[in-house]
Amino acid sequence: MTVRVRLAPSPTGTLHLGTARTALFNWLFAKKEGGSFLLRIEDTDTERSKEEYLKNIYDGLQWLGINWDESPIIQSERINEHKQIIKTLLDKGLAYKCYASEAELDEMRETQKRNGLAPKYDNRHRNLTPEQESEFIKIGREPVIRFKISDERLISWTDLIRGKMTWSGKDLGGDMVIARRASANSIGDPLYNLVVVADDSAMKISHVIRGEDHIANTAKQILLYEALDLNIPVFAHTPLILNSEGKKLSKRDGVTSISEFKKMGYTSEAMANYMTLLGWSVPEGINERFKISEISTIFSFKKVNKASAKFDWDKLNWLNSQIIHEMPAETLLENLDPLFKENGWHLPSQEWGIHLVGLIGPSMILINDGVDQAKPFFEEPELSNDGKKQLKIKEAAVILKFILEKLENSDSAFISKEAALDLINQATKNCEVKKGLVMKSLRAALFGTLNGPDLIQSWVLLSRFRKDRDRIRRFI
Ligand code: GLU
Repeated sequence: MTVRVRLAPSPTGTLHLGTARTALFNWLFAKKEGGSFLLRIEDTDTERSKEEYLKNIYDGLQWLGINWDESPIIQSERINEHKQIIKTLLDKGLAYKCYASEAELDEMRETQKRNGLAPKYDNRHRNLTPEQESEFIKIGREPVIRFKISDERLISWTDLIRGKMTWSGKDLGGDMVIARRASANSIGDPLYNLVVVADDSAMKISHVIRGEDHIANTAKQILLYEALDLNIPVFAHTPLILNSEGKKLSKRDGVTSISEFKKMGYTSEAMANYMTLLGWSVPEGINERFKISEISTIFSFKKVNKASAKFDWDKLNWLNSQIIHEMPAETLLENLDPLFKENGWHLPSQEWGIHLVGLIGPSMILINDGVDQAKPFFEEPELSNDGKKQLKIKEAAVILKFILEKLENSDSAFISKEAALDLINQATKNCEVKKGLVMKSLRAALFGTLNGPDLIQSWVLLSRFRKDRDRIRRFI
């Protein structure tokens, strides 16, 4: 079988983590099977669909390295085909016009509720006589179109993740609406289950891989495939992603869209790696740190869990930090430089930038950490509490004065590593203090705080901007 899978996002919001994970499983499966991964843009909700969301979805997938084959199918452009299929169902007597008003349907649901029953359309207009229909038309009722679902039907399929699945026709809510209300002599806007079947079939989709929240839709869609004599694809329903409290991950959890993760400083490699682990167990002997291109050869639905996956920030952070720590300095600088520029910071040279990232990289977890850590090199830092305390020690001013004088008498504009070390040793001896006191006082004066990367190297870099003297001068 030629494997053809698809992602069918609706451009009514930014690319959500769950959709991106579904995309990833589709993509991995297509790669593994030597098949195609396609996109279909489900933009029939014209009010909520937006061009900027579509761009966000394309950009997010590309950023993650999930490339697609063929041009994306735009669902709204296929409305005539969808309506033609509805007409086929009407002609076959498998669908019909239902004239029940919203008020009548509300009343029906209220009664069901009062009697402790689940809300379900009672198929009241399934067998209207032509006379009854013309009565409704005469009083101006606009019908929806419903597809007949028999209560007695059992629908079964073998899910690639969940195994044998069975759904009863009586649990599908009665005859299903497949087209919105419209005048009786036309066909209204086709609805989700109908258009998905029409499009998946037209796109020759072999496997439908999507979230488990679509399981009931799958049962309905199988009935449509059968009614239309179309090939039924294989289904795989992926587990939901839950937050740390075990609830479905939602907007309330703050960050849920891929572009937000990117903005926070997560790398695309860490995101793709982590999302694959959200539901997929790594086979024995395979490292949990991988590139998606590397594991596409071993990906299989056998290792996708049925149970929901809990989102684990610590694990994502760990992966991200590993990736940053292993990144070549040039690449890390490429990632950081645009963020530096956004702050109006310019590298004095490429070499300087490479040294800087070499210095701060090992303690970065997020790309954006590099901005915070680089800040004191570009901007005069505020004094932290520990910095203030250090500079209040009475020897601090003496030490700094000694160092400043030496710097001012030096012929060279920049300080070298050797000269910095020598100056610290001289200050220790001359001021008759411990070396630690010299180092701490100097760090507080130069960088505002007592924490940070290697002092000597940091000082060397700062001196490139000739800022070290000014900063020391403030405290003597
Ligand atoms: N547009 C649907 C969604 O975003 C697609 C579901 C499907 O894959 O059939 O959930």
